[in-house]
Amino acid sequence: MSLPLPQALWHHLAEEDVLAEVRSHHHRGLSTEDVAERQRLFGFNRISTQKTTSAIKRFLLQLHNPLIYILLLSTAVTFLLREYIDSVVIFSVVLVNAMIGYLQESKAEQALNSLRQMLSANAVVVRNGKKHTVPADELVPGDIVLLASGDKVPADVRLIENRNLQVDESALTGESVAVQKQRVSLAKDTVLADRINMAFASTLVTYGQATGVVIATGDQTETGKIARLINNAVTLETPLTKKIQAFSKILLWVILTLAALTFAVGLARGQYWVDTFIAAVALSVAAIPEGLPAVVTITLAIGVRRMARRHAIVRKLPAVETLGSTTIICSDKTGTLTENQMTVQYLYAGGQTYRVSGSGYQPEGDIRDADGKVVKPLPEALQALLSGGVLCNDSQWTQHEGIWDIQGDPTEGAMLVAAVKGGLSLQDCVQRMPRVDVLPFESDQQYMATRHLDVESKDEHRVVFKGSVERILQRCTQAMAPDGITQPLSADQVLAQVEALATQGLRVLAVAHARIAADAPTLVDLMATDTLPDLTFVGLQAMIDPPRAEAIRAVHACQQAGIQVKMITGDHTLTAKAIAEQMGIARHSYVQADVQEHRVLTGQQLSALSDHELLQEVEQVAVFARVAPEQKLKLVTALQAKRHVVAMTGDGVNDAPALKQADIGIAMGKGGTEVAKEAAAMVLTDDNFATIAGAVEEGRNVFDNLVKFITWVLPTNLGQGFVIMVAILLGTALPVLPVQALWLNTTAAVFLGLMLAFEPKETGLMARAPRSPDAPLLTWEMILRVVSVSTWLLLGAFGLFQWALAQGETEAVARTLAVTLFVVVQSVFLLNCRSLRGSVFHLPWLSNPWIWYGIAAMMLAQLAFVYTPIMNLLFYSAPISLAHWVMMLVYGVLVLLLVEAEKWLWRRFAQS
Ligand code: ADP
Ligand code: MG
Repeated sequence: MSLPLPQALWHHLAEEDVLAEVRSHHHRGLSTEDVAERQRLFGFNRISTQKTTSAIKRFLLQLHNPLIYILLLSTAVTFLLREYIDSVVIFSVVLVNAMIGYLQESKAEQALNSLRQMLSANAVVVRNGKKHTVPADELVPGDIVLLASGDKVPADVRLIENRNLQVDESALTGESVAVQKQRVSLAKDTVLADRINMAFASTLVTYGQATGVVIATGDQTETGKIARLINNAVTLETPLTKKIQAFSKILLWVILTLAALTFAVGLARGQYWVDTFIAAVALSVAAIPEGLPAVVTITLAIGVRRMARRHAIVRKLPAVETLGSTTIICSDKTGTLTENQMTVQYLYAGGQTYRVSGSGYQPEGDIRDADGKVVKPLPEALQALLSGGVLCNDSQWTQHEGIWDIQGDPTEGAMLVAAVKGGLSLQDCVQRMPRVDVLPFESDQQYMATRHLDVESKDEHRVVFKGSVERILQRCTQAMAPDGITQPLSADQVLAQVEALATQGLRVLAVAHARIAADAPTLVDLMATDTLPDLTFVGLQAMIDPPRAEAIRAVHACQQAGIQVKMITGDHTLTAKAIAEQMGIARHSYVQADVQEHRVLTGQQLSALSDHELLQEVEQVAVFARVAPEQKLKLVTALQAKRHVVAMTGDGVNDAPALKQADIGIAMGKGGTEVAKEAAAMVLTDDNFATIAGAVEEGRNVFDNLVKFITWVLPTNLGQGFVIMVAILLGTALPVLPVQALWLNTTAAVFLGLMLAFEPKETGLMARAPRSPDAPLLTWEMILRVVSVSTWLLLGAFGLFQWALAQGETEAVARTLAVTLFVVVQSVFLLNCRSLRGSVFHLPWLSNPWIWYGIAAMMLAQLAFVYTPIMNLLFYSAPISLAHWVMMLVYGVLVLLLVEAEKWLWRRFAQS
């Protein structure tokens, strides 16, 4: 095979010609050797995304910040004034700052991107005549791939089998209506959007199934060709960073006005204009929190990493923030709240109930009748029930190193195991009645159907249905007696049985079958035209799916945290209710005391409600059963109308709209479709509800730490601003020079403030009510804290500065004292900020070692600032004496105690 593939008109060729061209075979696929050779030739099936913005541009973007403009202006002015050292120092700080910002941002971006890669998809291929699941990026031209609803198309393919395939090609063409694919031959000049006999990489299968032969991979695909146009960059913008940007803008104007006033006042007093100008620059530089935006992004990124460690992969950064304000979590039942380790426990066939022993997927166990006797041989009806479950089944029962497991849907896997326990041979079942057609299971249809050749008759085919009792029974008129003879169906008897089983929390599926003429139309057509003959009810299989123990604890933790948990399931009302009760979901009633206990709303009832009624019910009811995925959207919007912040889980194609609409869409990493993952803000790699609760906890912690940082950083700026303004008003020398202010702001933010991002969660984090998304970043309590600490800084620094001058020290020494006092007090205040309300003395001292590393690093840097000649030259600092240090430390401890006293007062008098 030569490279590159000839630019054949893949949509125009006949199917055989396409297969010949890529030297593949419809049913055998490629051989292992073919694949290895082609992988060498074509490389990985990956689109090599070009960085959308070049590194230089991204670096320059860091400078695109009004606060930086002031600094650049200062650089220019100081340069013109021939204050070259100042000019160089200011400019270096700008560069260093931009460097740090750039590095941190790329790191955060990389982290998010690599997490995305963890979510890379698989593809089902036919190679050597067998089905395999392989990583999608190992595909090569010529591979035969199977596509099913929910998949992301892994490469460009020409379709060679098609069962109603519909594909959302908006990623490629911008057209959001799904395209119905067809196996037709097309004219040469057919445009991309109309090539309905092909499917293209990165588009999403929304319906149906198909088989295709890969004709292009990686950069050769249509998507690969336009990849440069696609913006793959993850956005680091979140509501919070936007708020901070807005805040920065206001701050900028305030500072500029103040600086201008300073300049005017100085001039009016007849001071030398250069001095006043420097004072104005000092004020602006000192008051601007340069480190703020970077630290916010870093803190969020740290949150992302922590969540990943707890199995929650964040796809969209804002989710980290939103998680912390979640008020309602709507969760799937099966697999998320429960183990999804199904075991059939009861069978009902021919009017008899049987009990199946054993658990999990081990083939150990037997089937006993009501008297406890092992049934052997199996009555005809029971045999039909078990074999029906095997035939209408897409899962596989596998053994790996002695451990039995299933591939595919656990609901189906359980039926295989039940059949084995009954003594059936799975292989015999399937070989005796080969499958010729299938209607795959879709959540909103609640059933699956297959069509088989019949051993007994050449002219007839057998169709087997399995699915929810409601849907199956609807189509049945007859039932199978124990001996296999059909008799009239007594629906009431069956429903009574279903109720008895579902009330125990068992998942109940019905099996039914019928015979149809061998030349009858396809199942799709039969269903579409409603010409399927009536079915014969064969029996029920009831399986247990135990709640996850950790999910029960997590539900409780959420309720403690003021978060309502709702179960939304496609399962039977009684099953849902029983499981909800076992998990404590139906019980809780924190929002309103009169929440009606144990009320379950079904999908049917839901669609009968008016919008107004829905708004009333939606908060009250905790369990929604037999809900079609489409209805989830309705639930989300209703809850949002009630001003809730809603997290919603989903796994299927039809869940995507609800996942997008939810404040946090959560997709299942193991059992979920690519479509759902694409729509979600977060993906659970373990599909576990407890992981959501964990992520909420992390989200709250991230926000907590951000507030801690902001509370810590603002006094640095406000305090310096105070000091400089007072000096200007009193007409004294400046206690802090512009370059010194820069030194203070950048080093302290990186060495001290950033360390708050590593604070572990405080006890009681999950005992608080959710934070309202509209709540201001800083409460009055925190604003007061900022002002009070700023005042202590003003008194300390200005006092020390004046005292030193009065003692006859040089201005350089006095300034060094003022700057160092800031460092000492901010180091101490860092300890205070480890808890915003609680006493720092009650926190474990070493729970965040980074605080101590940071303080140590800051002190080393400050020693260099004070004692090294080069720093003395650059920053106009000068050595100070040990006595000075002692004084400052004493003052630091005083501030520590003052802040703790302030917290104590709040706890004592302001709480509750
Ligand atoms: P959930 O995942 O919320 O439990 P589903 O939408 O998967 O609900 O299933 C809804 C109903 O459809 C189930 O109660 C069951 O009766 C039926 N069902 C589930 N899985 C299958 C399947 N693989 N084949 C046939 N019917 C199924
Ligand atoms: Mg399901």
